[in-house]
Amino acid sequence: MESQQLNIVFLPYPTPGHMIPMIDTARLFAKHGANVTIITTHANVSSFQKAIDSDFSAGHSIKTQLIQFPSAQVGLPDGVENIKDGTSLEMLGKITRGIWMLQDQIEILFQDLEPDCIVTDMMYPWTVQCAAKLGIPRLHFYSSSYFSNCACHFIRKCKPHEGLVSDTNKFTIPGLPHSIQMTTLQLPDWMRNKSFATGYFEEMFESEERSYGTICNSFHELESDYEKLCKTIMGIKCWSIGPVSAWANKDDDEKKANRGHMEINNIGNEQEWLNWLNSKPNDSVLYVSFGSLTRLPHLHLVEIAHGLENSGHNFIWVVRKKDRDEGGNGFLQEFEKRMKESDKGYIIWNWAPQLLILDHPATGGIVTHCGWNSILESLNAGLPMIAWPVFAEQFYNEKLVTEILKIGVPVGVKENKLWASFGEEAIVRSEEIVKAVEILMGSGQDSKEMRMRAKMLGDAAKRTIEEGGHSYNNLIQLIDELKSLKKSKALAVKEDYSFDGWYVIHL
Ligand code: UDP
Repeated sequence: MESQQLNIVFLPYPTPGHMIPMIDTARLFAKHGANVTIITTHANVSSFQKAIDSDFSAGHSIKTQLIQFPSAQVGLPDGVENIKDGTSLEMLGKITRGIWMLQDQIEILFQDLEPDCIVTDMMYPWTVQCAAKLGIPRLHFYSSSYFSNCACHFIRKCKPHEGLVSDTNKFTIPGLPHSIQMTTLQLPDWMRNKSFATGYFEEMFESEERSYGTICNSFHELESDYEKLCKTIMGIKCWSIGPVSAWANKDDDEKKANRGHMEINNIGNEQEWLNWLNSKPNDSVLYVSFGSLTRLPHLHLVEIAHGLENSGHNFIWVVRKKDRDEGGNGFLQEFEKRMKESDKGYIIWNWAPQLLILDHPATGGIVTHCGWNSILESLNAGLPMIAWPVFAEQFYNEKLVTEILKIGVPVGVKENKLWASFGEEAIVRSEEIVKAVEILMGSGQDSKEMRMRAKMLGDAAKRTIEEGGHSYNNLIQLIDELKSLKKSKALAVKEDYSFDGWYVIHL
């Protein structure tokens, strides 16, 4: 007799902002009875294998299935298999090419593993066809906000930015329940200028429409208007099951510390940052992080350093190792020394145990690049934010945080750009940073209200993943639906009639 247990294969995209929430999601499915396999490469698995082993030891049916990254074929050194490892545009291109080349291996695995369902990252649009061939549902994994998905959808469809006299002129995003304005310069490059990437992103968004449904790392209480818009006007079947990081990493501090990065134990003195935070009053420290991919030009680093120092508030700043070495004649090392002497600031080089820092009572706010995971994680800790978007959909997230949820202050970034050098006019000046820090960390009414709203959303985030909460119920309902599909498919096969009706409808 065929097993009733759901067999689900997860395919994460190798960049921390996509991989971390998908691994957390896979672990949640296993925790709720599914038999889970995660397909990944050797270098990537080392950042999360420990969590999988510990879940497996706890009795959950979860394993990893490794495939070979074509390092030699694309001309990369061994172990460079993740977008975050790219230190130049050329290297990024090679990593991306390597990821594309995995397609054949993945397709074979999909066949061999005989899943009842595949959950694949938004960056793998071709998996829609794989699912169709196998006659199983594909769930699209969207790793950002509903708001960003809706904003992007309506800008793609209505093109309100086309025909404006200047790319610094404002336009209103059509189709949204709130009146939100932005400029063409704040849109991702693939929207501003037609390129190969434009076709790829279009394909990606279309693949969502052709999938069985979308799993969203968000929650009803946070973005109900946009969850609804996605379901109704955009016609996407969605399940909000977030925040998955809070849900999957509830109990285990060690897991939190090691999450997302294999070198966490080699990057300096963990006890030191903890002692430093322990020595600070509650809510007094600003955590400053630009996520896993952003590399800031030297000029920007100098402005941030001066801005933080001049604000007079305590801070922890995560700086990429690459940034340390780039120009500036040891500026950052000098700065670090000065901050140690004044005891005002602490630099973490390269990778921080973000969840642990955000949860620490001394942390009172975050400067964030508006990566969705960082927003959810700080929100879960009840923290208000300084929004400093850098690239991709982060500018939409800035709007959500500052204008809709009203839990953040914009620092005033004008241009959407990853890595490339900024013109002088696009640099955020230290005075603007001081101003934003003063609003966020000060004792004014604005700060109090933002802090209160952030705390309320943090409470809602905690409730939604508990038994009976929206996200909890959505996950259970999704699992039940997939089980019924499996059952009806088994029945159909038994009764020997063709079972392709449901996926024809959805593809
Ligand atoms: N992260 C971390 N330590 C760091 C930098 C990032 O743990 O020093 C984690 C962070 O907690 C989040 C993810 O990496 O879960 C980054 O995702 P996000 O969507 O915030 O931004 P991205 O890196 O994709 O730009």
